[in-house]
Amino acid sequence: MLRFYNNLTGKLEDFEPLEEGKVSIYMCGPTVWNFAHIGNFRSFTFGDILRRYIKFKGYDVTYVMNLTDVDDRIIDESNKKGISIQEMTEPFTVAFNEDMATLGNIKPDIQPKATEHIEEMIEIIQKLLDNGKAYESDGSIYFRISAFPDYGKLSKISFEGNVEGGSQRVDTDKYDKEDARDFALWKLVGEDENPGWDAPFGRGRPGWHIECSAMSMKYLGETFDIHAGGIDLQFPHHENEIAQSEGSTGKLFSKYWLHGEFLKIDNEKMAKSLGNDYTLRDIIGRGFSPLAIRYLLISIPYHRQLNFTFEGLKGAETTIERLQQFRRLVREEKEKGRQGEGEVLSLVEKSLNEFESAMDDNLNTSEALAAIHNLVREVNSTLTEKGLTVEESDAVLNAVETFNSVLGIFGEEQEEILDEEIEKLIEERQEARHKRDFARSDEIRDLLAEKGIILEDTKEGVRWKRK
Ligand code: AMP
Ligand code: ZN
Repeated sequence: MLRFYNNLTGKLEDFEPLEEGKVSIYMCGPTVWNFAHIGNFRSFTFGDILRRYIKFKGYDVTYVMNLTDVDDRIIDESNKKGISIQEMTEPFTVAFNEDMATLGNIKPDIQPKATEHIEEMIEIIQKLLDNGKAYESDGSIYFRISAFPDYGKLSKISFEGNVEGGSQRVDTDKYDKEDARDFALWKLVGEDENPGWDAPFGRGRPGWHIECSAMSMKYLGETFDIHAGGIDLQFPHHENEIAQSEGSTGKLFSKYWLHGEFLKIDNEKMAKSLGNDYTLRDIIGRGFSPLAIRYLLISIPYHRQLNFTFEGLKGAETTIERLQQFRRLVREEKEKGRQGEGEVLSLVEKSLNEFESAMDDNLNTSEALAAIHNLVREVNSTLTEKGLTVEESDAVLNAVETFNSVLGIFGEEQEEILDEEIEKLIEERQEARHKRDFARSDEIRDLLAEKGIILEDTKEGVRWKRK
């Protein structure tokens, strides 16, 4: 039985979707004002694993992840550069989706942009004004927390006294509010200021929180199954989303709330504002493979903190190579066509069961990886002792496919090229070079690179290795 630690109830709970067989998930997406760092990608990869695993469990999943393309940072940056917010966010949106694909994260089913959902935000704000849960002050609209007694039910933060300016990310809007805790739904924007949108309650721009209420309910309905995001979003962002959504509909907003813990570095949260962040591109530029980064990011369960080190990343690189080599060996073994049954079949079954019960346990990815490594170790020793039958090899390869469909750590299988063929091509390349046919020699190098073979020209001649 799949169980999640639900932050709303503070309990580990059996997962039961609202509608049989269907699961709706909303994940808070990036603010597209810069390249995302690998801390951000730890959260988004957690979202990807959550979505993949629920699909693996047989549900029909709708996965929505928004793009925040209007907020204070975007407006400040675009003003500094003298460009529109669209001109500012477009290249980072493209870069974000490229990075997600590089990391093996499957594209969300729906990726709504805040700027394309202003109408929906205005509607919610109007409802809140009509039912007394919002008010106007100096042209801006605020949520009236005193009118929503459930406020604080997600973060369990006690709101005794004045919390403004505390250690949490509390809105410190500069305008007059009835209560320091109240937060902006709509911020007044002057007639000639941009960006700004017309609303029945005046020209303005949305607060950050209302974006996610509008986009999640539009695509998943007023009540949906799972809302996820990084732990720093729990308060105030998610608390405010609940207040706005439930305040306007009178219905439960999201049944389960899951939060991913931080990626840290030198025991501090990785954050652009702290200057200790690495983008995915930085790390790949240092020669690490996206698969190793992915492996590292999921090596610790999402709800526990993970400290990033380059040592750890090197370890992940070695592990990934071992896993890929394992798959290759089993594939080669299968080609030998040995017949009969064997005890590896029960090892595979045991490993699949261990994998599933680990993932069922609130997505315990480290236990799930341990189940994979155990199988690799045991199969490797059978392989060296007596080899595998075709049936055993098939069972192992299918299990690898299953693991890969959920975790995405094995990567695409490269079309196999045998050692002999490689040697032949290298010889041909040497001849081409002697004849100064560099076009052909480059062509051969590229062909080999495509198959994951790296050539090194040394004094002793050409050496090659598999990537
Ligand atoms: P932002 O683009 O600032 O809205 O953040 C995008 C996502 O990254 C949010 O879900 C954050 O919670 C998450 N995030 C930011 N920093 C980290 C970190 N160091 N580790 C894990 N997640 C993070
Ligand atoms: Zn959000």
